[in-house]
Amino acid sequence: MEYAKLKQSLDTQGVTLVAVSKTKPPSAILELYTQGQRLFGENRVQELVEKHEALPKDIAWHMIGQLQKNKVKYIAGFISLIHSCDSLSLAKMINKEAKKNNRKIKVLLQIKIAKEDSKAGWSYEQLLECIEELKGLAALEVGGVMGMGTFTDELGVNEKEFQNLKHYFDALKKEHFPEDSFKNISMGMSGDYPLAIECGSTMVRIGSLLFGSR
Ligand SMILES: *Cc1c(COP(=O)(O)O)cnc(C)c1O
Repeated sequence: MEYAKLKQSLDTQGVTLVAVSKTKPPSAILELYTQGQRLFGENRVQELVEKHEALPKDIAWHMIGQLQKNKVKYIAGFISLIHSCDSLSLAKMINKEAKKNNRKIKVLLQIKIAKEDSKAGWSYEQLLECIEELKGLAALEVGGVMGMGTFTDELGVNEKEFQNLKHYFDALKKEHFPEDSFKNISMGMSGDYPLAIECGSTMVRIGSLLFGSR
């Protein structure tokens, strides 16, 4: 899809576009950059670091893939948002590396909404068990939640999952994170983003629709 059209449509809906550039070369990123896009998402640390080094410094980089604790240090200095904070031990490591870099690091809490075992994330119950500890991590700024729907053609399944994530967000906001900075629901990809937006998404992660299939 044409970038400008998608961006404009999302802007009018108040939804943030994360252009998912994983596996795509810097030249493809620059093509969108020259059209105004400044926010890109990657899912592998090494690729993220290489692209951060090679590309303009006013790009905001988001980590959207599963993150190993021992790799947090490579991105802690520059990462703009980590969507995939999915365990207390990872949150503690991000907090530690943020302190070392004299900054706060923004994260989203990844909640498991899909049925497949492969999809990472906290169950909502597990998340509630460590919420007080999470709130105590001073260099961590919790900016909302992230989730991935089941890979299926049945939109009814995804709709229910997205509604669940919205419900979790609302409950967390009410009970634990009343501050303005807790504001994002990252859900929706190329195949399901219109539905995700209907269900309350504020941030969509779109790759193949913008860059072509991988
Ligand atoms: C690859 C990826 C996306 C984008 O997927 P598309 O279907 O190409 O839009 C979104 N979120 C995550 C976590 C991904 O790994």
